[in-house]
This record gives sequence, structure tokens and C-alpha cells, in this order.
Amino acid sequence: MKDETKAAHLGRHPERFAGNVNTPVFRASTILSADMAEWEKKKKDRAQEKPGSYYGLNGGPTKHLLEEALAEIEGGYKCQIYPSGLAACVIPILGYVKSGDHILVPDCVYGPTRKFCDSQLKRFGVETTYYDPLIGAGIAALMRPNTRLVFVESPGSLTFEIQDIPAIAEVAHKHQAVVMMDNTWGTPLYFKPFEHGVDVSIQATTKYIVGHSDVIMGSVTCTKEAWPQLKAVTSDFGQTAAPDDCYLAARGLRTMALRLPRHWESGVALAEWIARQPEVEKVLHPALPGDPGHALWKRDFKGACGLFGVVMKPMPTKARDVIIDSTKLYGLGASWGGYESLIMPFEPREIRSATRWPHEGPCFRIHAGLEHIDDLIADMDQAFTRMRASL
Ligand SMILES: *Cc1c(COP(=O)(O)O)cnc(C)c1O
Repeated sequence: MKDETKAAHLGRHPERFAGNVNTPVFRASTILSADMAEWEKKKKDRAQEKPGSYYGLNGGPTKHLLEEALAEIEGGYKCQIYPSGLAACVIPILGYVKSGDHILVPDCVYGPTRKFCDSQLKRFGVETTYYDPLIGAGIAALMRPNTRLVFVESPGSLTFEIQDIPAIAEVAHKHQAVVMMDNTWGTPLYFKPFEHGVDVSIQATTKYIVGHSDVIMGSVTCTKEAWPQLKAVTSDFGQTAAPDDCYLAARGLRTMALRLPRHWESGVALAEWIARQPEVEKVLHPALPGDPGHALWKRDFKGACGLFGVVMKPMPTKARDVIIDSTKLYGLGASWGGYESLIMPFEPREIRSATRWPHEGPCFRIHAGLEHIDDLIADMDQAFTRMRASL
């Protein structure tokens, strides 16, 4: 089955739910057993990981069928839903490390993931080394006998570097380290982590899977070998998500394969238009042929989402702010992956330690939504005109 067909069909079993096309919302804390025989059977089934609902914390069919669909579409063994993308990024790390261990994290990692490594992980005696996201096989030089986990995020949060994940994974596996990836930008459709050596793949489901800016959720999918630790850490930390939210995520999944090509196409068209403006130093978008990550993106990815960065030539920050304040179709807000376009300032210099950000000018990030591209470009055009008038 192709991904479009999978997105429409996976995780749906109408025959179990009176013919309902969608898995209904099952709200539950307590799930009753009829008698002691059923109680004992459920206990045994659960120990053997047979499908079923045993207690609300572990989730009911609405959550389990979403997990089933996400695992299959991303190409992994099994999936666990988390209450946020951030929880999905950080809690699983704890399943693979112990006090005295060392992990490697790219300098371009999602900011709150970095904060977790510098605070909680450090407190538990796990050391983090940040590495240049472009390091590739050179990561061998940073591996230590106690390096248990190599985190990757490609393209990087805010700065959009593409990592050579197969090269990094090969080195990590030689050292028996687990490769964990934040695959939110690639989505389960445009980057297939398990075909490139990743062991544990994270989605901020909040973004394109939900797709409508109305749910916070994460998912973690892994290989069979990485499953026992993922399962244990998810349950030991009490991670779950509400069935209503799982219903909305499953509903988003159904149209994701249709939405993503539009985000991709509009993102590229907008990035190309912006790159032609004389005040722009650089557009950070791996699908553009001039981008340093373009060759790797072409080799490893099946597409691009609608998120990219813009670096202006040196100018007052206030002039960048005029662009942001003048757009009418781009909302000023965090997050992305919904149907609407967004714009947001960012400052890469503040969040790096292993590499130096070489640009002086102010930056902003764009999410290309599902609006018509002509309207998106016209709106950006008038915002650039206002910026020019302000200089
Ligand atoms: C948004 C995001 C997250 C966190 O997701 P939340 O659901 O907002 O907690 C993690 N990684 C990346 C790359 C993100 O963009």
C-alpha cells in the first residue's frame, strides 16, 4: 500500500465498532472485568502484550488504533502516544540511559529538548555533548565508551541543517548506542527513519498529523529491539493522552497525505520569492537547490513540509519586525503544521554552543499554510514594501 492509502485506512476497524467508519471516543478510567476469570485473563494478556484495554491510563481503542496506524505509516514496530511533542522528545531518553552515561545531541536541536538535557538529564548524572549537525561520520571522534544515545534532528529546529543520518547511525550502532530522531519536520510521509538507521522516532503529532492547530500531542515509534525500554519508560512515567485528542489526531492523519504536498509546494514557492528580495541574505530551506543540505535532502527525503527560515541582510531588528507586523495572512505564533500560515522571529545565536552562527542579520521563520499561494506572496510582497519604507 502507498502512504496515501495507508493514511486513509490504517487503524480503522469499523467491524469492531458497529460499522462506524471512525473509531469512536472511548472515555474511561475504570475498565471492568465481569468476574475473576476475566480479571486473571486480562492480567495474563497484558503481560503478553496482547491488544486490549485494561485501565484508562494505558488507553482504550481510540488511542491504541492511532498508535497502530502511526507505527505502520512511519515504518516502525510499535508506537506510544505522549501528551505532548516535548514529552515524546525527552521522556524516552530516560529509557535508554542511566547515571554515568553520555549522550550526543545536535547543536540545532529543538530548544526545549536542549533545556531538558541541560537541566533534568544533568541532575540525573547523564552528560550531554552538543555536536555540529553537519558532522556526519565524523561523530566517531565524539563517541565515548559510555555514549549510550545519539540524538538527531533533521532538518534542525529553526536553522534547517540536514544531517547525514545513515552515516551517524552506522557509527552509533558500532558503539551499541541508540539513535533517536525528532522526525517532526520530515513527518512519517517524507522521511522514513527506520530505513535510515534510526531506532526511535519522535513526532510532535501536534504539527502535521493533527494538522488543525487544536491538539498538543506526541508520538514515539521504535524498532522491535528498542521496544522494551520504550514501553517501560512510557508506563513508568505515566504517559498517556486523552481519547478526544487521539480522535482528532486520527482525523488529521486521514488527510495528511493530501495536505502535505500543498504545504511543500507553497513553502518552496514562497521561499523562492523571498530569496529573490535584495534585503534577504539567505533562505534556509533544504528543498531549494542552492541549500547546503539539498543533496542529502534529495537522497534521503521524499518531500518537504511548509516550514523554513529566512535570514535578512544586516538591518535593524525593527525592520524585520515591520515585516512580521505587516503581514495579514501570517499569524504571529509558535507551533506549526496547521492549515494556516505563520510567521515568527528567531535568534539562532542565543541557542548554540558547538557551532557559531555566521550571520549578523535578523531572522524569521515561516510556516506556509493551505491558503492560495498568490495570496501568500501578495501579502508578503506588501509586507516587504512596508519594511523598505521603514528603512
Ligand atoms: C513543536 C515541536 C516539538 C514539541 O511539540 P509540542 O507538542 O509543542 O510539545 C518537538 N520538536 C519539534 C521539532 C517541534 O517543532
